Amino acid sequence: MFQIVDARLLAASVKQLKVAAPEITRKRKPGQFVVLRINEEGERIPLTIADADPEAGTITLIFQEVGKSTAQLGRLKAGDFHRRFNRSSGSSHPYRKNSKPWSA
Ligand SMILES: Cc1cc2nc3c(=O)[nH]c(=O)nc-3n(C[C@H](O)[C@H](O)[C@H](O)COP(=O)(O)OP(=O)(O)OC[C@H]3O[C@@H](n4cnc5c(N)ncnc54)[C@H](O)[C@@H]3O)c2cc1C
Repeated sequence: MFQIVDARLLAASVKQLKVAAPEITRKRKPGQFVVLRINEEGERIPLTIADADPEAGTITLIFQEVGKSTAQLGRLKAGDFHRRFNRSSGSSHPYRKNSKPWSA
């Protein structure tokens, strides 16, 4: 079970959740995503890790409510729990400190 520590509305249908997930904050790399389920019967929802705070042990997810599962997720509040995360996955995005911004 993973506890939501903060939930806020960023724009119409766009929500931000901070979720306590200390192990993921330690292992995740930029560009990776998590796959979560609201309950045991729930659909798997892939969401990009928008930010992570290893000291607080939280990750930030930003998502748009487009269908059933993201609407259910959007109804969760701080203090609520969702059931599970698969560990972070996906290719990480290489980050170089002094690299120039990409442009077309
Ligand atoms: C690797 C990965 C990372 C993702 N990260 C984020 C994220 O950080 N924030 C976020 O808001 N969403 C993200 N998504 C999309 C998110 O997973 C889906 O919006 C969500 O699973 C939809 O579930 P649902 O049951 O609410 O909607 P569904 O009922 O599954 O879909 C509702 C409607 O939205 C359309 N739809 C669903 N998913 C997508 C999609 N990926 N692209 C275009 N149309 C779609 C469907 O065709 C349908 O018309 C990510 C997807 C992937 C694969």
